[in-house]
Amino acid sequence: MIPFRKNLIDGEWVGDAGSRNINPSNLDDLVGEYASGDAEQARQAIAAAKAAFPAWSRSGVLARHAVLRKASDEITARKDEIGRALAREEGKTLVEGIGETVRAAQIFDFFAGETLRLSGELVPSVRPGVGVEITREAVGVVGIITPWNFPIAIPAWKIAPALAYGNTIVFKPAELVPESAWTIVDILHRAGLPKGVLNLVMGKGSVVGQAMLDSPDLNAITFTGSVGTGKRVAAASVEHMRKYQLEMGGKNPLVVLDDADLAVAVDCAINGAYFSTGQRCTASSRLVVTDGIHDRFVDAMKDRLAKLVVGDALDAKTQIGPVVDQSQLKQDEDYIAIGRQEGADLAFGGERLDRETRGFYLQPALFTQATNAMRISREEIFGPVANVIRVKDYDEALAVANDTPFGLTSGICTSSLKHATHFKRNSEAGMVMVNLPTAGVDFHVPFGGRKGSSYGPREQGRYAAEFYTTVKTAYTFAG
Ligand code: ADP
Repeated sequence: MIPFRKNLIDGEWVGDAGSRNINPSNLDDLVGEYASGDAEQARQAIAAAKAAFPAWSRSGVLARHAVLRKASDEITARKDEIGRALAREEGKTLVEGIGETVRAAQIFDFFAGETLRLSGELVPSVRPGVGVEITREAVGVVGIITPWNFPIAIPAWKIAPALAYGNTIVFKPAELVPESAWTIVDILHRAGLPKGVLNLVMGKGSVVGQAMLDSPDLNAITFTGSVGTGKRVAAASVEHMRKYQLEMGGKNPLVVLDDADLAVAVDCAINGAYFSTGQRCTASSRLVVTDGIHDRFVDAMKDRLAKLVVGDALDAKTQIGPVVDQSQLKQDEDYIAIGRQEGADLAFGGERLDRETRGFYLQPALFTQATNAMRISREEIFGPVANVIRVKDYDEALAVANDTPFGLTSGICTSSLKHATHFKRNSEAGMVMVNLPTAGVDFHVPFGGRKGSSYGPREQGRYAAEFYTTVKTAYTFAG
C-alpha cells in the first residue's frame, strides 16, 4: 500500500494528492504520495498558528516538556522504521538514516529539558528602589523552511526549540523528502499539541514557501537551503521587519599538513567529502594539502575511494548512496566537466554507475591540481566531489582555507599543537575541527557559520534561545 499523506492545518489533515516521492536508489519504487499545498493553505496555516499562539505561549513549561519528551520517545522506539524510510526517500545509507533519526530524538529530548531550564536575570537598577527583570518570551509565529539533505534532523532542530520556547509553527519541508517531515509532524500531533500550534504545509517552494515569505503575520523565519533562496528570505524578512535566520552553503576546507597522521587525514577526508554522498553543507570539498604529504595523501585517497561501496541506500553493504535526484546529478556532472575545463586533473571517479535498479549513482570524484581560484573551488557543488589544492606550508594553507565566500566549517589534520591552536583561532569559520572531519557535529552545542554561509543567531543547544525568544526588560519600583 502506497501511503497518501496530507497537510496538517489547524489540527486537521487536509489536501489532495499532488506530489510523488521517488526512491533515488530505485526509480521504480514509489515511497508515497503527498498533498501539495497552495498559497491559500499557507495563509490558513499562518492564521491558525497566529490564533494558537496566545494560549500555547502561556501554556506552562510542563505541557511543552510532555509533548517534546513523548516525541523523543516515539522517534527512539521507531528509529529503524523511520530511518529506513528516510534512507529510502533521500538516498543516504541505512546507517546514516537511522543515525539521523536517533539524532532527531536526542534533539527533542534536549529541548524537552530546556523547557525546564529557561531562566532570566534580576538586576538592581541604577535608581534606588527599582528592580530590573530580564526575561525571554516566545517570538510568535515561526516559519520553518527546510532542505532535503537532512530530512528529519534539520526539521527537529528547528521545530523542537520553537515549541520549547512557546512559539507556534508553519513548517514547509523540501519537496523531495516529505515522508520524514510528515512523520515528525504526525508524532508531535499525536503527542498532544493543541490545534494550530504546529502546521505542516508540504508543497512547492515557489508557491507555499513564497506565500510564507510574503505574509505579514510570520514573526520569524528560519531557513536552511541554497544561497539564492536565502537571499529571498532575507529580502522579504526585511520588508516585513521580521526576525530571520539563514543556514546556506559551504565550501569547507580540510587542511592536511606534512606532520598529519596520514590514516587520520584520509579518514577525515573520505568521511567529510563523500559520506552522505557529499550532500552536506558541512562537507569537506576543498582538501588543502602541503607539499611534503601531498603525493602520499593523494595515493591513499585513491586507494580508499576505489574500495568505497556505492549502491542502493537500503543495502547494508552500501557506504555511499545515490545522488538525491536528477537535477542534483546534473549539477554534479556539470561541475565535474567544469573542473576538467578549468584544468584540474580528475584523479578518480566522476562517472555514472549502473546498479541492479535504476538510480542516480555516481562514482565519488577526486580532483587534483586544483587551484583555489577555480569555480570548482569557489562554488558549492553539493555532491561527492572534492578537490585537492596543493600548498607549500601552513601559512599558505590557512590563507587558502580562508579565501572563500563561505565560512561554515573548517578542519585541520596535524600533530602540531602550535598549528592546531593557531588554526582554531584564525580560521574564518563558525565551526573548526582538529583531526576530525568537517562534517559531523554534536546536537547540544551551537551550529552555524560566517560570511556567505549563515546569517543570524546560531542554531542548536542553548544558543537556539537567541532566535526563538525575544528579550524583555521590565522595571519595577517597589518603594
Ligand atoms: P536546494 O537547492 O537545496 O533545494 P532551495 O533553497 O531551493 O535549496 O530549497 C530549500 C527550501 O527552500 C525548500 O524547502 C524549498 O522548497 C524552499 N524554497 C525554494 N524556493 C523558495 C521561495 N521562493 N520561497 C520560499 N521557499 C523556497
